[in-house]
Amino acid sequence: MPHRAYPLTLVLLASTWLSSCATSAPPAPLYQTSTLRALQHGVFDGLRSLGMILQHGDFGLGTLNGLDGELVVLAGQAYRAGADGTVTVVPPEALSPFAAVTFFVPQRTVPAPAGSCADLLAFLETELGSPNVFVAVQVDGVFPTLTVRSVPKQAPPYPPLEQVLAGQVVFPLRHQVGSLIGFWTPPYLGAVSSPGWHLHFLARDRQTAGHLLDCSLAEGVVKLAELPGLVLDLPETETYRTATLSP
Ligand SMILES: [Zn+2]
Repeated sequence: MPHRAYPLTLVLLASTWLSSCATSAPPAPLYQTSTLRALQHGVFDGLRSLGMILQHGDFGLGTLNGLDGELVVLAGQAYRAGADGTVTVVPPEALSPFAAVTFFVPQRTVPAPAGSCADLLAFLETELGSPNVFVAVQVDGVFPTLTVRSVPKQAPPYPPLEQVLAGQVVFPLRHQVGSLIGFWTPPYLGAVSSPGWHLHFLARDRQTAGHLLDCSLAEGVVKLAELPGLVLDLPETETYRTATLSP
């Protein structure tokens, strides 16, 4: 497939609430391949290679071709959390049907409150300058309990996402040290990406990862960056073009 820069690109712009903060580089936008609505309708074929996606960010999350596990990107390295519980490094030629990345430069670093995951998410929400902008977040911490999930690879014809999630594999974990990585999506953009917080976990030893379902936090540090907009890279595939995605 010939490379085109941002085919069918939609760029949503927003002002930054921390623009007065001094950072060494201007914040990068969120770059996202495909949409949550397309995933919900079974558009699981890989759209972009990880090699290309990592040109747009060194931090983020997503999934892999055929919904083959959960994707986490940290410090420019992509990891796949498989439904078998293994974590592997993703090669640059691997394809993703949905990924969201940015070049994460924290604008604000604050201690995380000890407590439940609900406490943490509520705290993170108080740290938002506005609910109507994209925010990248990383929570480095010690998690006495942590529940993550992954999903098994699907074969065409792909089922709806809801059906795949009914068969998700849940991993209840204890005594994890690592990072929650992800984004706040303005709730009114819920067809584009998971509304609110969407977080994936990656253990410091890179042996455990997955989509966050629940946790408790003993101690931690929160790093946040408001992102100046969204670059949305939409599939050119017939599956996408002919899917009924609008109500
Ligand atoms: Zn996820």
